[in-house]
Amino acid sequence: MARDYYGILGVDRSASDSEIKKAYRKLARKYHPDVNPGEEAAEKFREASLAYEILTDPEKRRIVDLGGDPAEQGGGGGGGGGFGGFGDIFDAFFGGGGGGRGPQSRVQPGADALLRTRITLEEAFVGVRKEITVDTAVLCEECSGSGSASGAKPVPCQTCSGSGELQEMQRSFLGNVMTSRPCPTCQGTGDVIQDPCNRCHGEGRCKARRDLVVTVPAGIDDGMRIRMAGQGEVGPGGGPAGDLYVEISVQQHAVFSRQGDDLHLTVRVPMVDAALGTEVNTESLTGEPLGITLPAGSQPGDRIRLAGSGMPRLRAEGAGDLVAHLDVVVPRELDDRSRALLEKLRDHRDDLTEINREGDGQETLFSRLRNRFRR
Ligand SMILES: [Zn+2]
Ligand SMILES: [Zn+2]
Repeated sequence: MARDYYGILGVDRSASDSEIKKAYRKLARKYHPDVNPGEEAAEKFREASLAYEILTDPEKRRIVDLGGDPAEQGGGGGGGGGFGGFGDIFDAFFGGGGGGRGPQSRVQPGADALLRTRITLEEAFVGVRKEITVDTAVLCEECSGSGSASGAKPVPCQTCSGSGELQEMQRSFLGNVMTSRPCPTCQGTGDVIQDPCNRCHGEGRCKARRDLVVTVPAGIDDGMRIRMAGQGEVGPGGGPAGDLYVEISVQQHAVFSRQGDDLHLTVRVPMVDAALGTEVNTESLTGEPLGITLPAGSQPGDRIRLAGSGMPRLRAEGAGDLVAHLDVVVPRELDDRSRALLEKLRDHRDDLTEINREGDGQETLFSRLRNRFRR
């Protein structure tokens, strides 16, 4: 059973990152072991921390939204104590900078980025290389990420003597507690860049627009995301870039609709062709001729399945099926000759009209009699 991570934090499925963070901080204040000792509170704190870690990771949140549980998928890259993002959790709890943790590295890993792009069903069928434009932070070329104009090393911060934090005594309902907060002068890094780079103002990174090419594999479905490692945001201080996720949206097609790996289409066939059988000639998604053979006596709603003619399976062998749904068209107007031919056919066939309960194939004696009577 997948855990209800949204329920644990008490947020909507549409909650933004900041709403999730707010909900988590509220729970953390209530259940943090320093505030609320005891096994039950500790368990609640662990649960909330896990939910927070998962819902603020775009890829893990996507798995949750698909009904999965990232915590049960072999560690999910977290490693160690179940969830790896202790930095994030302390960020949320202490309001950024990881207060009380000593000097923080100036260089921090960058965030992941998400971008959406539209493709056609034809492109999804064969795979495509798509140009995308990305606006993210990139490494500052001016200072190569050091943040310093001259390339000089940062000097120790005078406000906090290089510790990165300021300590103060606070009165709380727990008594006097020593709390520490990140030093505002150096933002907790313990050192200061004296001659900030003109271009990035000491950040080591700047916003830039880049054109990239994403390789969309054949068989991709609407809403899937492609991960481009290292193409996300460059971190503060020129830290390693996060990943870029490209979410694919597949446009509706005029003829084919997709369900899983199967492609469906509707064939409207004249009643005479349905009765006599016929060959329907159309085109596949790649424009190749596609023949669908209707046997004599085809009925409205019949399905004809062409195995292996559907969408290629994503990163796997084979393909789904193509399913043609039959719609039988009865002429709305008849010329004299058609009418005469059909009347001749009726006399020749002497078919019965039947009345049945819906979904009941059995003809009742009563309906048979009533039809006789009507004719
Ligand atoms: Zn400082
Ligand atoms: Zn710079």
